[in-house]
Amino acid sequence: MNRIVLLNPGPVNVTPTVRDSLLRGDMCHREPEIAELIQNIRKKLVRVFGIEDRYKTALITGSGTAALEMAVSSCLSEGRTVCVIQNGVYGERIGAMSKAYGHPVHALTSGWGVPPDLAELEATLMGHPEIEVVAMVHHETTTGLMNPLNEVAALCRKHGKKLLVDAISSLAGEPFDFAATQAAIVVGTANKCIQGFPGVSFVLVHNNEWERLENVPARSVYFDLFKNLSAQEKGETLFTPAIQVHYAFDQALDELMQETVEGRIRRYGEAAQRLRRGFAEMGLALLLDEALLSNSLTALKLPEGMTYGPLHDHLRQNGFVIYAGQGGLSKSIFRIANMGDIRREEFDRLLEVLKETVLSAGRA
Ligand SMILES: *Cc1c(COP(=O)(O)O)cnc(C)c1O
Repeated sequence: MNRIVLLNPGPVNVTPTVRDSLLRGDMCHREPEIAELIQNIRKKLVRVFGIEDRYKTALITGSGTAALEMAVSSCLSEGRTVCVIQNGVYGERIGAMSKAYGHPVHALTSGWGVPPDLAELEATLMGHPEIEVVAMVHHETTTGLMNPLNEVAALCRKHGKKLLVDAISSLAGEPFDFAATQAAIVVGTANKCIQGFPGVSFVLVHNNEWERLENVPARSVYFDLFKNLSAQEKGETLFTPAIQVHYAFDQALDELMQETVEGRIRRYGEAAQRLRRGFAEMGLALLLDEALLSNSLTALKLPEGMTYGPLHDHLRQNGFVIYAGQGGLSKSIFRIANMGDIRREEFDRLLEVLKETVLSAGRA
C-alpha cells in the first residue's frame, strides 16, 4: 500500500521500526517475558515524563477511551461528586461517562472552543464542598483548544480537590508540568503523540492517591483502576493484554526517549507553525484565536462554497487523510493534525495540494 499521511488526531503514522516491532513473536501473557515487557513499558512511561518518583501507571488494553473509563469510573469516593469542565466533545464525554457510573456531576460548561470561566469554577468549588474531583481535558481535540491546566490545577490545590486530566491528545505533544499541577490522575494513550499503535492506553496515578483509590467502591470489573494498578505492581495482568501492540508501544517509548519529550514538542510546534503560515497564505481562517491553539491540531473554517466531503476525497486521492469537524461544527470546519511520524516534505506537499483545492473551489 502506498503511504497514506494521517492528518487526523490519532491513530498516527508510526515509524517503520515501531511497525516492525509488532512481529516480535507469539507469546502467552503469563510468561515472564510479558511480565517484563509490561514492567518495562510502565517504567519507561514514568521515566520519559520525569515522574518516576511520584507516579505509577496502570496499562489497559483498549483505545484511549478505555483508560479514561478506568480513571473516571474509579476516581470518586462514596457520597462525593465530580465537577467536569466541558467545552468540547471530550469534556462532554467525561460528563457522560461519570453519569453512566452514577457519579453526581457538576458540569462547568462554556461553548466549544471557549476556555472555562475560572471564577465560576472557583465559586462552584467553594459552594459545593462535596466535590472531590475536578475532571478536565487538557487539549480539547474537538477544536484544538488548550485548556488552562495550570490555572485549574492551582484552584484544585487551593480548595483541596483532586484533579483528573484527560491528556490523551497532549502527552508528548504539549508541555505538561507534572510538578506544578500535581494532578492526581492523568490519562494517556499509545497512539497519539507517543506514536504507537491503537490498542493500549494508560492511567498515571499520583503516589498519594493509592490509599484513597483502594477505598473507592468497585464499579467495573475490567476498568477497576486500583485492581489493575495493584496487579501490575506485582508484575501481573488481570486480563489478556494486546501483546503485539505492547511490543510496538515499548519501541515507541524508546524512540520518544531518544527524541525526548521536549524535542517532540518542538518538532510538532514547528510543524504546526509551518502549516499555519501556509493556511494563512491561501486565505484559510482559523476557528480559534491562535494564542489558544495546541501544537498538534488546527481547526480551519471551510471556505465559502466548499463542503467537507469533496475536500476530504480530493486530499485522500493525493495520499492525505484529513478530519471532519464533530457535532455542530461538522458542516463548518475541518481539522488538520500534525501528530506522528510525518516528514517536513509531506507537510509541504499537503499545503500544495490543499492550495490547489482551495483555489479551484474559489474559481468554481
Ligand atoms: C482521541 C481522544 C480521546 C479518545 O481516544 P480513543 O483512542 O479514540 O478512544 C479522548 N480524549 C481526547 C482528548 C482525545 O483526543
